[in-house]
Amino acid sequence: MDIDKGGPRVLLRHLREAMAASLGPQERLDKIVELIAQNMGAQVCSFYVLRDDAALELFATRGLKREAVHMTTLRLGEGLVGHIAAEAETLALQDAQNHPSFAYRAETGEDAFHAFLGVPVLRAGQILGVLVVQYIETREFAEDETEALLTTATLLAEMLLTAEFEMLIKPGADIDLRRPRAFEGLAIADGVALGHVVLHDPRVVIKNFVADDIPHEKNRLEQAIARMRVSIDDMFNSGDMQVSSEHREILESYRMFAHDRGWVRRLSEAVESGLTAEAAVERVQNDTRARMLRQSDPYIRDRLHDLDDLAHRLLRVVTDAGSLMDKGELPENAILVARNLGPAELLEYDRARLRGIVLEEGATTSHVSIVARSLGIVGVGQAQNIVSMCEDGDEIVVDGSAGLVHLRPPPDVEATYLEKLALSERRQEKYASLVEKDAVTKDGVRINLLHNSGLVADLHALDKTGAEGIGLFRTELQFMVASKLPRLAEQIELFREVMDFAGDRPVVFRLLDIGGDKVVPYLRSTSEENPAMGWRSLRLALDRPGLLRTQVRALLQAADGRALKILVPMVTETEEYCKCVGVIRREVARLGRSGQKTPETLEIGAMIEVPSILFELDELLAHTDFISIGSNDLIQFLTATDRANTRVANSYDPIATPRLRAIRMIVRAAEKHNIPLTMCGELAGRPLEALALLAIGMTKLSMGPSSIGPIKDMVLNCDLGPIAQDIQNVLDGKVPPTNIRDLLTGWSEKQNLPI
Ligand code: PEP
Ligand code: MG
Repeated sequence: MDIDKGGPRVLLRHLREAMAASLGPQERLDKIVELIAQNMGAQVCSFYVLRDDAALELFATRGLKREAVHMTTLRLGEGLVGHIAAEAETLALQDAQNHPSFAYRAETGEDAFHAFLGVPVLRAGQILGVLVVQYIETREFAEDETEALLTTATLLAEMLLTAEFEMLIKPGADIDLRRPRAFEGLAIADGVALGHVVLHDPRVVIKNFVADDIPHEKNRLEQAIARMRVSIDDMFNSGDMQVSSEHREILESYRMFAHDRGWVRRLSEAVESGLTAEAAVERVQNDTRARMLRQSDPYIRDRLHDLDDLAHRLLRVVTDAGSLMDKGELPENAILVARNLGPAELLEYDRARLRGIVLEEGATTSHVSIVARSLGIVGVGQAQNIVSMCEDGDEIVVDGSAGLVHLRPPPDVEATYLEKLALSERRQEKYASLVEKDAVTKDGVRINLLHNSGLVADLHALDKTGAEGIGLFRTELQFMVASKLPRLAEQIELFREVMDFAGDRPVVFRLLDIGGDKVVPYLRSTSEENPAMGWRSLRLALDRPGLLRTQVRALLQAADGRALKILVPMVTETEEYCKCVGVIRREVARLGRSGQKTPETLEIGAMIEVPSILFELDELLAHTDFISIGSNDLIQFLTATDRANTRVANSYDPIATPRLRAIRMIVRAAEKHNIPLTMCGELAGRPLEALALLAIGMTKLSMGPSSIGPIKDMVLNCDLGPIAQDIQNVLDGKVPPTNIRDLLTGWSEKQNLPI
């Protein structure tokens, strides 16, 4: 047998020639397996492709019976080939027939062979097929032989995705990579969207796999690694990374991996085997992804995620891919898919074309979700590993109500969702018909429905929903999306635009509420262990009175004599609220002294979202013109569950007895002091939860614009009296403890409420 193999580099060169030659697709594959067999001195080389029905089909062979091609199939997990595909790992066996997984297929004539080397063919960490060489004799395999076969597999993976290859696929079947996939995630923004995937961090397309000049490629790789290391160091030293300990931690592990000798060695070995620097990175990244997908330990999985991110970074450096795509240029019906996204990043996309977002991370009350909801963008979070499983342009369905994502949906799923979309459009028409109606329950309780807002972009929704005004304008969003501190003039401009747009409709401007996941990089100089309970919001404002004064000044000037409502966030005790009111009053006096118009009325209110203030309501309410409950924070602090941590954020029912009792305390205090009370946390926008709030006497609800229609519909259909009585009885302990959610669900069924 001719063992003059010529080594992997020669093989790669020959393979490249075979790929460029004018051959039909089957001939090309036949040629490729022949070249591999020859080069590796093997009697057999076979290539199996994983189909979307989970069968591995023999696509080409040199050495086994040719009649078996496209006839022989193995199930995933069946035989050695099935084992390699199921585990995404290499098998090198001196004698295959001794292996417990060996499955004999008479039609292939495999019984004559002993030594066996098989590798997975991977793309983005997913299995596309299996490549095998077999030998008559028994023998051991050297590590470089396995490497060579893996390198060849990288090349084959690319080939599988070409249009030419489609001709070999049997009608009715497809390759597994394009199999439909469903993800059960977390509903973060309501609605249904059908469209095409746009990867936030687009995959780098590698054009050249085979190296012409290996020393040159080694040099490119080394330089890219060095550049990447410098860029990580730069990030460490930049202001951005002072932000949170979490970011630092990720960077620490990036830095560690960037200097990891094993990783660097694997990269350079891949180049030595004849790949270009970028193909080498992809090859090594594929292995990492495959390991990541198999990993169930969350810690190791996270580390592999970091390594995957790092490899992606390196790929961008090595290919000079530069910055990410122009965010303005989106296809119609774009669905953005990302590991995670900040609110500012989301806002960079063209909103006219963006229908949905799908994140691997993301929690319901995180700010990217809030921004998505306020812009009417459908969203799902916690879609595990979706980034590596999709390609730009893939069809995708996002069900932001159920938290489901269907990637490459089969026709029946797509049809169901088109139906749902039509239904939701009909529902929107129904909501549109309610716009002019007042929200009054059947038994005559008038409810005020208001918007939560924070961007100019979402103001226009006011006209569409018929909401009575803005119950919460989150001023920090302007700070979060800016790259530097917004100046007085910029703040005035925004506030004026909001007031002009709102006209007679009231707007409640909440003072800067930074902290937690509301990251404003240029405002922080130290990282905090626990930013949600750290230097944030009102505390920060009182410590940095310059910032607070500027904001108040901007509000007063923008009002230009009109009525103004200012809401103070995160009030923990009355004294600090009064300090803040003092700053506001001094600014009003200053304005008056300078001869400018002061607001015709100025109302100042407090947010009730820190549990401590529940026990000082009488004192606080003596100083407030109105109050507003921030249930997102109140529930987070009452239950000691981080609202941004998806593991725990939904662990406790916010309308269960203890939480609802707490909210009722506030309702009662507001009634006692005759102070208007609004709910502006996310609870107000969810029909069943809103019903609980109505039942304890709340009448002002502020929510994301897309919730106004459903809530108004619920209000109009509801006979509140008996429901309220029932709930109050539970809260008063007059009846045995009952699950409030179940009780309300029962009522909504009885009254046929649209919930
Ligand atoms: C809240 O905490 O409920 C709230 C409305 O404020 P934010 O979500 O902006 O913290
Ligand atoms: Mg809050």
